[in-house]
Amino acid sequence: MVTENLKQVEEKIQKACERAGRKREDVTLIAVSKTKPVEMMREAMEAGIVTFGENKVQEMLSKQETLTEPLQWHLIGHLQRNKVRSIVGKTARIHSVDSLRLARQIQSEFEKQGKTADILVEVNVAGEESKFGFAPEETEQALREMALLPNIHVRGLMTIAPFVENPEENRVHFRNLNKLLVDINSKNIDNINMDELSMGMTGDYETAIEEGATWVRVGTGIFGSRIYL
Ligand SMILES: *Cc1c(COP(=O)(O)O)cnc(C)c1O
Repeated sequence: MVTENLKQVEEKIQKACERAGRKREDVTLIAVSKTKPVEMMREAMEAGIVTFGENKVQEMLSKQETLTEPLQWHLIGHLQRNKVRSIVGKTARIHSVDSLRLARQIQSEFEKQGKTADILVEVNVAGEESKFGFAPEETEQALREMALLPNIHVRGLMTIAPFVENPEENRVHFRNLNKLLVDINSKNIDNINMDELSMGMTGDYETAIEEGATWVRVGTGIFGSRIYL
């Protein structure tokens, strides 16, 4: 099932890139494997996937003990400050930096181990109560403060768009996140030069690619629906 699903997702990604006049290699598919067993991840690896997304630190670390192949692990879920120490050196990106307190904790723990964290700043594009992330209008100020943290490298912006039936409804949010990135880059803030946009999930990744996503995070579309116990 995973192999067949991946084939379909790949085709859709390619078509979306064509429609948008973008190069396929400018978009990377993150296979979101949260709650799914390592056997299914192996199936994805056999189909060529090396980039996985997890939202829980403990689950990611325990899967890393089993899957020792050279993989790229992305932490995509809300990160608690007391978990930061345990992920130093364990992730390619932290997608979900949603507060300055968290950024400062990342700074201090990565500094202690002589490492730099590649992060994305989470933006709550639709102002949903239930979502983490900075409001669009407070993002620039937050970035100005993160720019002063020497062990943090802000690579771009990330959002979790609203759950909608029709992905077209999220186009405006993806477009706005892209605009926000371009706008902040144009201010030439020292240490801030972003080129990554993490946006789009199973329901709306094609639209996100049309609007400039460089990372799409697809779980259900690859591994099937999740059962939370
Ligand atoms: C679970 C999750 C995804 C994947 O969601 P699907 O709808 O299953 O593709 C993407 N991003 C984040 C932050 C998630 O927590």
